This record gives sequence, C-alpha cells and structure tokens, in this order.
Amino acid sequence: MSEVVTIKKVIEEAYDTKTFVFDWDAVVHPGQFIMIWIPGTDEIPMSVSGICDKTKSITVKAIGDATKRLHEFKEGD
Ligand SMILES: Cc1cc2nc3c(=O)[nH]c(=O)nc-3n(C[C@H](O)[C@H](O)[C@H](O)COP(=O)(O)OP(=O)(O)OC[C@H]3O[C@@H](n4cnc5c(N)ncnc54)[C@H](O)[C@@H]3O)c2cc1C
Repeated sequence: MSEVVTIKKVIEEAYDTKTFVFDWDAVVHPGQFIMIWIPGTDEIPMSVSGICDKTKSITVKAIGDATKRLHEFKEGD
C-alpha cells in the first residue's frame, strides 16, 4: 500500500536533523518503520518518531541524496 501525504509541519531539531509531521490514517506501532519515496531521488526506510492518532512524524538526519532532498521539503509539500 502506498499513499501520498502532505507535510503539516517541519521542526528543526538540530543543524542536520528535521522532524516532518504529516497526517496518515494508518495504525503504526512503536518500533515500526516505513518506506519514504522521494520522487526522482530514492526510496528510503525511516522509523516513525511520533504517533498521535492520525498524525505521524519521521525524524531525518541529512546524510546523502535522499535525506538532503527531503530536508528541502516545506510545510504543504
Ligand atoms: C529500518 C531503518 C530505519 C531508519 N530510520 C531512520 C530514521 O528514523 N531517521 C534517519 O535519519 N535515518 C533512518 N534510517 C537511515 C536512513 O534510511 C538512511 O540514512 C538513508 O537511507 C540514507 O539515504 P541517503 O540517500 O540520504 O544517503 P546514502 O546515499 O544512502 O548514504 C550516504 C552516505 O552515508 C552513509 N550512511 C547512510 N545511512 C547512514 C547512517 N544511518 N549512519 C551513518 N552513515 C550512513 C552511506 O554509507 C553513504 O556513505 C533508517 C534505516 C533503516 C534501515
């Protein structure tokens, strides 16, 4: 199952680390990870860092092509 989500909020955790908050109405348990597809770049595994009903988040360290591209994304993307 794949789904397109819209970024609701971006939190700068550190100079190289951001949290992306989005609505995704799926049941997710602590410890699970999801595959994040970044169009034109790559598909990468990310742990779910926050779960609050249908609101979820991932916390991403910019390290290579895909994570640096993800760091360019803003609220509404
Ligand atoms: C199950 C799982 C869950 C993950 N959850 C998270 C998460 O919640 N947050 C997060 O930021 N990352 C997480 N990662 C790591 C993340 O998937 C990788 O950092 C990402 O795939 C890198 O993609 P890239 O194209 O940006 O960099 P790449 O081009 O793949 O890598 C660039 C360079 O960095 C090195 N590298 C890649 N990942 C790491 C790393 N983690 N530590 C040190 N060096 C690395 C590579 O060997 C390469 O030399 C997770 C990985 C797995 C397998």
